[in-house]
Amino acid sequence: MTSSVLIVGGSIAGTSLAYWLHRHGFAVTVVERAAALRDGGYKVDIRGAAIDVVSRMGILDTLRSLRTEVRAGTVVDGSGKRVASMDGDTFGGRTHGDAELLRGDLTRVLYDLTGNDVEYRFGEAITALDGNRVGFASGSSASYDLIIGADGVHSTTRALAFGPEERFRHDLGYRIAICSVPNHLGLDREEVTYVGPGRTALVYSTAGSSDAKAMFLYAGAEPSLRDVYAGSGWEVPALLEAAGSAPDLYADVMTQVRMDRWSAGPVALVGDAAWCASPASGQGTSLALVGAYVLAGELATGGGFAGYERRMRPFAERNQKLGPANVKRMVLSTERQVRASMRMLAVMDHLPFKDRLLAAAMAPLHKAANAIDLPEYGAARSASS
Ligand SMILES: Cc1cc2nc3c(=O)[nH]c(=O)nc-3n(C[C@H](O)[C@H](O)[C@H](O)COP(=O)(O)OP(=O)(O)OC[C@H]3O[C@@H](n4cnc5c(N)ncnc54)[C@H](O)[C@@H]3O)c2cc1C
Repeated sequence: MTSSVLIVGGSIAGTSLAYWLHRHGFAVTVVERAAALRDGGYKVDIRGAAIDVVSRMGILDTLRSLRTEVRAGTVVDGSGKRVASMDGDTFGGRTHGDAELLRGDLTRVLYDLTGNDVEYRFGEAITALDGNRVGFASGSSASYDLIIGADGVHSTTRALAFGPEERFRHDLGYRIAICSVPNHLGLDREEVTYVGPGRTALVYSTAGSSDAKAMFLYAGAEPSLRDVYAGSGWEVPALLEAAGSAPDLYADVMTQVRMDRWSAGPVALVGDAAWCASPASGQGTSLALVGAYVLAGELATGGGFAGYERRMRPFAERNQKLGPANVKRMVLSTERQVRASMRMLAVMDHLPFKDRLLAAAMAPLHKAANAIDLPEYGAARSASS
């Protein structure tokens, strides 16, 4: 008999897991809290092993056609003077073949792969869990053979099956905020970054978008951007003004999820819900894609949740280590560190081989992104766990 699987969360991990499980012969239902698939959003990267996964899904060319095409990254000082510029791929830590696109574009492509074959219930959320029985916000309930939480860093599935979020959450000591802003700088597929002590602000424009995105990364727990960025130079006051009335401001602590196990009885977690590496890792999207592939493959070929953990854990943990290290490079603690870094960047800007130097600095990211051998699970259908 076909096994029924409930996936909680219809973003990157949820939609790609739905694809693979359906392909392996499972009967899949996805519940997504949002009323509809979320378009747009910030830019995310697909790199390393995740490129193999999307290639096996047959969507690599489509995803490449949706690339943000960010072609340059520039660092400016407080007066707005250019300190250094790099090519967009180097700036974003991408080597040949890696793809950067908007999160909403990626989710749309993943959803379109299965929209007709998988039952999607938008505007529905999990609220209760008792063994195989799931209660929903709408008041209904149903039983499934397996329940997979792909509901992100603040996962309700995790809270219901494993315990309160605080038990698994490791805050890195920083906050992040991102929103759409008018492209008042007239950026054309480029990113500009300002670095102040304990606070970084950047703005970028992507192919096909008339607006821009502003991102704020800063040390501490203060939620008020205005307080944290008071006195900042460059275009920060204008970005703060725009953020104040942005319709889509997203703000959160920079956190990681660390768990000893990702499954309990019929429930397992995937993506940020299981191992959130934090936005600073640059690997959250790729981990979600690879995790979904491995989880579905192990379920289909008899490895079960144990096989999934065995294959996925070393990869997830290695990529998680990137988060705390990267965020320290993105947000410099003191005025002195900022000055030293600006001097170094200014010198580097004149070196003919600067892009190669920067690419070498990204080696740990690329090694981590490739640190898994992906089995060929085939399209076998044996939907028993
Ligand atoms: C500001 C920011 C910048 C980022 N930048 C990058 C980057 O440059 N590169 C990169 O690779 N990654 C980046 N990431 C990380 C990346 O977005 C995540 O790692 C990735 O989205 C994880 O996918 P996921 O499907 O596991 O979780 P999510 O994308 O968080 O999706 C979880 C889904 O579950 C739904 N949901 C939540 N609770 C419930 C519930 N109770 N019932 C039903 N549905 C529910 C949510 O609505 C959501 O759709 C960034 C993240 C942020 C926040």
